[in-house]
Amino acid sequence: MDTNNILKRLAEILGITRDVLEKKMGRTIRIMSYRGIDYVVLREDLGGFREGTVIFLSEEKIIHGYPSIRRLALLEGVPLHMIDEIVVEEKMNGYNVRIVLVNDRILAITRGGYICPYTTARIEKIYGERLREALSEYEDVVLAGEVIGTENPYVVYEYPEAHGFDYFIFDVMKNGALAPLSLRDEIVDKYSLKRVPVLARLNKNELGRLREIIDDLDKRGREGVVIKDPMHRVSPLKYTTIYINIKDIEEGMKYPFDEGRGYLFSRIVRLICQAYEYGLSNEELDRIALRLGRAILGPAVESLKARSKGRLIAATYKLVFPSEEDLRDYLEFLEELGVDAVVKIIGTSREGVEVELMKLKDTHGYYSKILETGYSPLD
Ligand code: ATP
Ligand code: MG
Repeated sequence: MDTNNILKRLAEILGITRDVLEKKMGRTIRIMSYRGIDYVVLREDLGGFREGTVIFLSEEKIIHGYPSIRRLALLEGVPLHMIDEIVVEEKMNGYNVRIVLVNDRILAITRGGYICPYTTARIEKIYGERLREALSEYEDVVLAGEVIGTENPYVVYEYPEAHGFDYFIFDVMKNGALAPLSLRDEIVDKYSLKRVPVLARLNKNELGRLREIIDDLDKRGREGVVIKDPMHRVSPLKYTTIYINIKDIEEGMKYPFDEGRGYLFSRIVRLICQAYEYGLSNEELDRIALRLGRAILGPAVESLKARSKGRLIAATYKLVFPSEEDLRDYLEFLEELGVDAVVKIIGTSREGVEVELMKLKDTHGYYSKILETGYSPLD
């Protein structure tokens, strides 16, 4: 198809005029390509389609964005929004990946709607065959899951069960809607895939039991829960532990002018509601306040010291590419997205090519200025 026909067809699919389409090109709509597969990414909601929706032009296949999950501030909200039975699943702290089969290829799509060449290569290597079989049998299905572990360029969080990199399925989507959990379980079991831990099936009023589950996750340093209706008749809810709320701040505050700024207030609001709902005593509050204060100041001061010694303030990621071709594809992808990153090849092993990726943070520039001028960037 030539460009003119592509745009015409795309406008029809999205239900918008050519004019609007052309205005949205580049910003809201991006056309990308991966190994000869052309696809369109919606970077914002458009024409009734969610952000992160992907359209494969050759087969006119639409992969809808994974829906946003409402966060609960209070567990008391559970009975207000759920119907009767609830499924309590672990919320794993990684990044959202949808898997589809296009042209007999397994593709891993990020939340934002990009085919990530790195994620695709790693998942293909572990689960390629099983996923191809599963998605050939269940043609109209999109798998949605979390990639967890330390070997990825997005969310680095240690999970012993991930062994660096693994994929845990949490939902199955059909025509943009979440399918009953029984379908997910059927596919996962039949093809020996992995599913996020299902922690309990409860009645929506069993809040004491729910609290125990969350306390246990908190002690184990895990992120939290997603509470689902078994049939997805109502939208799921998410709730995170005190542990992770503080841990996120600690991670984010390595870079106060990047993640730090945005992370702080939202996490503090979560903690306020937890202190209230759990009825924390003054002593317990003191302990949490100390952890919170350290999480805010500790890493931020460390970074400033590091900058003063001339070090780069950058996030580093370890990646393992199954082949050199996979690495080339990924570098091309970074360039296409305009990501500013430094890539260093560490070595080659049986697992593939090991690479260190560094993304320079805005904090680097802010800290440099502070150290040079003595001025504060904020009043
Ligand atoms: P949003 O607010 O749009 O959902 P976010 O990136 O802020 O996006 P999170 O706070 O991480 O999202 O919570 C939602 C995400 O949690 C999902 O998109 C999914 O990637 C992840 N997740 C982990 N475990 C589960 C699970 N068991 N069920 C559903 N989602 C899960
Ligand atoms: Mg997440």
